[in-house]
Amino acid sequence: MTDNRKTLALIAHDGKKADMVAFAMAHKAVLERYDLVATNTTGQMLQEKVGLEVQRMLSGPLGGDAQIAAQVAEGQIEAVFFFVDPLNKHPHDPDIQGLMRICNVHDVPLASNPATAAFIISTQAL
Ligand code: PGA
Repeated sequence: MTDNRKTLALIAHDGKKADMVAFAMAHKAVLERYDLVATNTTGQMLQEKVGLEVQRMLSGPLGGDAQIAAQVAEGQIEAVFFFVDPLNKHPHDPDIQGLMRICNVHDVPLASNPATAAFIISTQAL
């Protein structure tokens, strides 16, 4: 990781992974200007399908959301792009709520759907 680069976090539930890949392809040039962290499977897809360099945490259900929440709490993350699937149950729902809560505690931009993510990234305010 480069010291002076800002870091973005990317997470997508299974039902939203295709949306995340489409978002990352559409905004690849912007995303490449940041260090990227992601939960494991999301990160793998971004590496293999989009060609982005990504630091992979654990998979969400195994604690990846909690790892990213810790980084947000420590001020290491500029914004979180977390595409949640509202139509399915998740065993790690406490971690999902925890990550969203920590973003709100620290006033870190949090996009929970592709439309918000596109809006945030197109402002170039990050
Ligand atoms: P994954 O985790 O990227 O490893 O699938 C995301 C999640 O389900 O929270």
